[in-house]
Amino acid sequence: MGKAYNILPAFPKIVGIETTAHCNASCVFCPLHGSKSDMVLPKGVMSMRLFEKIVRELSARRDRIDVIFLNVRGEPLLDPKFDSRLGIISGYGLNDKISMQTNGQFLDRHKAEVVLNNKIGQIVLGFDAATKEVYEQHRINCNYETVLNNMHNFLELRQKVKSKVRVSIKYVCTHKNKHEIKTAYKMWSKRLISRLDSFMISPSENWANSKIDSNGYAIKTTHNSNKDRVPCPLLANSINVLYDGKVPACCWDYNMDISNGEMGDANDHQLAEIWSGKAFQNLRYKHANLDFTGLPRCAQCSQILEYDDSGLRGHGKTIPIGVAARYLLGIKKLIGKFI
Ligand code: SF4
Ligand code: SF4
Repeated sequence: MGKAYNILPAFPKIVGIETTAHCNASCVFCPLHGSKSDMVLPKGVMSMRLFEKIVRELSARRDRIDVIFLNVRGEPLLDPKFDSRLGIISGYGLNDKISMQTNGQFLDRHKAEVVLNNKIGQIVLGFDAATKEVYEQHRINCNYETVLNNMHNFLELRQKVKSKVRVSIKYVCTHKNKHEIKTAYKMWSKRLISRLDSFMISPSENWANSKIDSNGYAIKTTHNSNKDRVPCPLLANSINVLYDGKVPACCWDYNMDISNGEMGDANDHQLAEIWSGKAFQNLRYKHANLDFTGLPRCAQCSQILEYDDSGLRGHGKTIPIGVAARYLLGIKKLIGKFI
């Protein structure tokens, strides 16, 4: 298999469950719902039967799992069964493993109560600016005031009920918002809780989609040799299930054209079987040997660059809230490296 996957865990540490593939937004850096989208598969909502089947399996593997994402290609708060699903997750004792990424547009009072009552592990708000102008230039179809209000209300409620649900602000850094990172960090620092919450700066990945490169909002992947490439880290630690039960190669395999539908179907198989199945092993074998023939998406994907064009591995940096001033000073350096 090659040393990249020598210590492959018996079960992935990271699991993504696509409760819905729909999203209200059309972010400029999104290959799924943005204007440069090339997602061709139909969108839908996961059945409760399949959802509970998956959760049951995860509950038996809980000690091996670090985090369960409630989204893959969609906005989880658009899921009409969101409340019931969190109830099921709590019933199986997995609530503290949940990390929910959201654009926050629908994080109203009711949803905030559901999230807090179920004591999920973390909520991650995608918010990539300090000002309305820059925010709405990136998060198309999200409203600056609405999202800020929603999050402020969430934070107040969290404080009132003395909840320990962690909050992270995810700032996808592009050429057109990098100048607001420091202001955004300071803005959120005033409201977030020291040593519980965090601010995550993420480079704008290309999602293995060369069209995304061309709009000036993502990492450019001009690489054409294996010199800068590494085997994909996602194949060593994560599995995702789409709303219809299909398992893609990774969360970037949004058209299933890397997996070609061969990884497996969670309706018929356990995730553990799919994870160690032949299709995943074959793909890992190719990656371990840096053989990307027949894998054009992987070949252009920013996940496998040892260094992205800014000199950093493309996974960003998480800054705890309330840390020493040296971190703040470091942000400037960090921004310089990202872009
Ligand atoms: S909120 Fe997420 S899924 Fe929706 S368009 Fe933006 S990046 Fe894509
Ligand atoms: S390198 Fe391939 S498997 Fe890894 S994230 Fe990119 S597209 Fe997915």
